[in-house]
Amino acid sequence: MPNIFSQFQKEDECRKMLEASRWENGKPHCPFCGNEKYYVIEGGKRYKCANNKCYKKYSATTGTIFENSKLPLSLWFTAMHIITAHKKGISSCQLARDLGVEQKTAWFMNHRIREALKEKNSPLLDGTIEADETYMGRKYRADYKGLQPEEIDHKLSSKIKNKGAVLGLADRKNGTIRVKVFESNKTEFVVDAVRKNVSQGSVLHTDGSELYNSVEDEYFREKVIHSKKEWVKESMIVDKVHVNNVENFWGVMKRGVYGIYHQISFKHLERYADEFSYRYNSRKISDKERFNLTLERVNGRLTYNTLTGKNEISPEK
Ligand SMILES: [Zn+2]
Repeated sequence: MPNIFSQFQKEDECRKMLEASRWENGKPHCPFCGNEKYYVIEGGKRYKCANNKCYKKYSATTGTIFENSKLPLSLWFTAMHIITAHKKGISSCQLARDLGVEQKTAWFMNHRIREALKEKNSPLLDGTIEADETYMGRKYRADYKGLQPEEIDHKLSSKIKNKGAVLGLADRKNGTIRVKVFESNKTEFVVDAVRKNVSQGSVLHTDGSELYNSVEDEYFREKVIHSKKEWVKESMIVDKVHVNNVENFWGVMKRGVYGIYHQISFKHLERYADEFSYRYNSRKISDKERFNLTLERVNGRLTYNTLTGKNEISPEK
């Protein structure tokens, strides 16, 4: 851990890193009116727009997940590095210990950073796509500790409340996954998500679920029937038919969520799904490259109120 801390020790250097990542050649421009002329204020920490109709003050953190935070960027960067490098995710208790902050603060940072990991403006997938769904998002109980994800699923399966359906779409060609979260596994949700994410005419590999029957005219669907102990079979046209990549991903995500987070409410399920898919999709690059990639995605902030549904101040106040 010490090398991570020394890497992001100097606040000035962190700010320069963020400026270089956000602005072309690191040259500031006003996020409110787009003007490229500015005055340097507060010893270079902030800028003031030189457009006399605007004159707004801003910094590299304006409009990012770091906006209005009293915490130093060095701490944020360290947290980003820790969160994205951990294969199975990290609890806010552990993050609090690693960073030397209160658990509540770590929880908030954890959620804001996950917001940056969210997939935005994703192009349609094509080629061979595996589609498979699962259920998550209910309270994990202490007596489930040590059980395999499948066993926990089984114990939870009788309860419907606060359960979310999760759809995984694995791109066979790129080895990546895209995850979508719904309140329930209603056909319309699943079908809509498939249409919005997979281009028509693609090959769709699924299990025997009836959820995909209504898109059979739009995709070349091939299925493996798990109830008939069918897991991999020869395709009629291309590749082997299976949904093993999505199922492997569910294993990693559930072990992470059940084992590390202990509890997960439906409200936060989507963000966890984004975190796990982000890490999975960047598994072949180094921690350093992943950090830089994450830094490019910090635009768009999540307020404490959005997270908690309260109209109260954020914890770092
Ligand atoms: Zn301006």
